[in-house]
Amino acid sequence: MRLLTFRYQNDVMAGVLEGENVLPLPWPDVKSLIESGLDAAAEAAAAAQALPLADVSLLAPILKPGKIVAIGLNYLDHCLEQGKTPPERPTIFTKFSTAVNHPGGDIRWDPSMTQMVDYEAELAVVIGKRAYRVGEEDAYEYVAGYTCLNDVTARDLQRGDKQWVRGKSLDTFAPMGPLLVTADELPDPHGLAIRCWVNGELRQESNTDQLIHTVPKLIAFCSRTFTLEPGDIITTGTPGGVGVYSDPPVFLKPGDEITVEIESIGRLQNRVGPYLP
Ligand code: ZN
Repeated sequence: MRLLTFRYQNDVMAGVLEGENVLPLPWPDVKSLIESGLDAAAEAAAAAQALPLADVSLLAPILKPGKIVAIGLNYLDHCLEQGKTPPERPTIFTKFSTAVNHPGGDIRWDPSMTQMVDYEAELAVVIGKRAYRVGEEDAYEYVAGYTCLNDVTARDLQRGDKQWVRGKSLDTFAPMGPLLVTADELPDPHGLAIRCWVNGELRQESNTDQLIHTVPKLIAFCSRTFTLEPGDIITTGTPGGVGVYSDPPVFLKPGDEITVEIESIGRLQNRVGPYLP
């Protein structure tokens, strides 16, 4: 299934995308649908009255993830562009859930806070059920599905602080969606083309088969230390081609349009809005 969270008139709800129609489901968002079990979705969809996709506003599929676990340095070319050797263990940081942004939502910041804002196209894994001390071999059972995420980053804060959380967690800095493609449609999330454009110019181009630490390995590694809950997100890292390591470096500015596309999952577009006063 291709699930989405959307607004229709004054209501926010979960739905299934079928062609150019949305079948509304009786859950307030995809996270609550996941919590009650995806099996219930198909039955509810069969009884739903279709809405034209053009009449709804797309929202982040998971409006308020319990946590966003982010992985750094997980593509070889992204390690090499910054002169780092790939880490033996996954490098983990977090983005606060208040950073979540919607498809089409403006990315905004105060220029007195940061002047080095960058994009990172990423495959995001959405957890389907509570996972604690899960083995790699069982890890896929805990995946609800996959979506696109732009791990927007303030490089000056990332570098200036002793760790990365602030530079990754500004409000609006985690656009995601629009679709959550369920795991049954993507039994292997490795082998998908991943690309990012800024104002139509291709900046990142890779494939999820280049992930250093695979999805099952990341779930096993994280859940060994802490519990993953339904609706939690693991965003798996970005390939080479980010702005900060371009020659010369380029950073985002108001009016820029960023497109993240992952094969079989979809296309996430956002614009940089006016600076915050
Ligand atoms: Zn990232």
